[in-house]
Amino acid sequence: MGWMAKFHIDVITLRTFLKVLAHGYRADNPFHNAVHAADVTQAVYYFINSPGLRDRLTDVEKFTAVIAAVIHDVDHPGLNNAFLEKSNDLINLIHGSSGTLERHHLTAGLDVLFRCDLLKQMTPEDREHVCSLVKELVLATDMARHGEFMEKFNGLHTNGVDWSNSGEFGAMRTSNLNISIKAGSIRNT
Ligand SMILES: [Zn+2]
Repeated sequence: MGWMAKFHIDVITLRTFLKVLAHGYRADNPFHNAVHAADVTQAVYYFINSPGLRDRLTDVEKFTAVIAAVIHDVDHPGLNNAFLEKSNDLINLIHGSSGTLERHHLTAGLDVLFRCDLLKQMTPEDREHVCSLVKELVLATDMARHGEFMEKFNGLHTNGVDWSNSGEFGAMRTSNLNISIKAGSIRNT
C-alpha cells in the first residue's frame, strides 16, 4: 500500500502542502532554493529504498525522511549560522546560536505542515512519531554536529547491532536516516 492510502493523504492536501512549501523557499537564493529541496528529497528517497534500508525502516520512518528532506532548508536566507550570529540577525535572536538555521527551517517547515494539515488523518501515535523524527532529522543537517553523527554511525556499523534488541535496532535506523539526509544535503555542495 502506498503512503497516500496508508496515511489517508488526499492529493489536493499534498499539492497544497508542496505549493506553500515551495513558496517558502527563497527564489533569489542561488543554491538553497526549492530545486535543492527537490534534489535532496530525491536523494533521500533513493537512500531509504536501497536494499540495506528498504526492509528495515517502517513506513512512518520512510515517509518522515521524505518530509524532513523536503522542508530541511525552507526559508534559507543564503547566509550561514556564524554570519547570522555576528550580524545579530533576527533568526539568530529567535533561535540562538546553536543550530540557528536548522531550527529556523524546522519551525518554518512544521508551520507549513500543520497549516496544510498534511498529517490530519494519521493516528495520534504516528503523528507524534513523524513530528519527533522530523525534528531529529532536520536538526541533524547542522554541520557543526557532523562529527557527532558520524561517530555514532561509525560506532554502530563497526561494533555491529543486535537486530533482536529493539533499542539498538531503533538507534541504527535513526542513525541511518540521519546520515541519509546529511548525505543528500551535502553531496553536491
Ligand atoms: Zn540542504
